[in-house]
Amino acid sequence: MNFFNTSASYEQKIELPLFDQKQVEVWMKRDDLLHPFVSGNKYRKLKYLAQDALQQGKQHLVTFGGAYSNHLVATASAGAALGLKTTAILRGEEEFNNPMLSICRLYGMGFKQVSREEYRNKDAAFAKHFGNDDGVYRIDEGGYSALGAQGCTDIFAELTQTYQHIFCAVGTGTTVAGLINGANEGTQIHGVVVLKGAEYLKTEIEKLLITPKDFTLHHNFYFGGYGKFDAEIMHFIKEFASQTGMLLDPVYTAKMMLGLQQLILQDYFPKNSKILVIHTGGLWGLTSEKAIELSVLP
Ligand SMILES: *Cc1c(COP(=O)(O)O)cnc(C)c1O
Repeated sequence: MNFFNTSASYEQKIELPLFDQKQVEVWMKRDDLLHPFVSGNKYRKLKYLAQDALQQGKQHLVTFGGAYSNHLVATASAGAALGLKTTAILRGEEEFNNPMLSICRLYGMGFKQVSREEYRNKDAAFAKHFGNDDGVYRIDEGGYSALGAQGCTDIFAELTQTYQHIFCAVGTGTTVAGLINGANEGTQIHGVVVLKGAEYLKTEIEKLLITPKDFTLHHNFYFGGYGKFDAEIMHFIKEFASQTGMLLDPVYTAKMMLGLQQLILQDYFPKNSKILVIHTGGLWGLTSEKAIELSVLP
């Protein structure tokens, strides 16, 4: 399976005055460069899931998401590349039209729209539409799975340096679990949780760990809650992009970077710490109406 080739991602030092001033080094693992549509951690999470589906002789990936889901775009694109049919169980019954769903449609993804109420019970929704279909391979929302985490563990095989701290944004917790599984002693893994009050995530992450290990979740950088962002976030993205040449997405990576900067400002890290942040991609989030609207503000 040649599709999943990670050579495009590298570690890039982020040069910002704050980091010099506080004498910390911050590096970015550029997983945003892995693929234009199978972006960042979705690329890593889908690798072993898709492999598993093909090995089991399945022809059809079925997964779940909302109208702005990076995971749906990634599944549509990877599925098409691998000769697998794709269907999304889509949250909400209104007529959706946005660049992300449009890309999904162009890759041939089909949709089963369900009410928000129905969407909450994913087992029932799946059973109703695909219960008896042997050709279907089910992928949970956001690619939450042990195989997804395993794909994220692969990051360590590519790193050219060691770091005292590694940061990533947390949605389902799959990516951070993969990082925790792969980290050596001496590297602390940090997850920046972008959902408000999502204390349950600790348990969800622990379910994906191969052996119990210590890790840190930051719960105070959700900035309004999941999928919410304001002019301040967009302003930060603008500033960061113009200073570093790297775009961040408003739902995950901007909040992670803002959180990291706040921690650095508070002298959370000892001097000379070497920190790696994972760019988990998601840049299609910048095409949402709200992001476009806020990006023209001063
Ligand atoms: C999906 C996504 C995440 C969340 O990853 P999990 O493995 O679900 O925690 C983080 N960042 C970006 C850009 C994403 O698209």
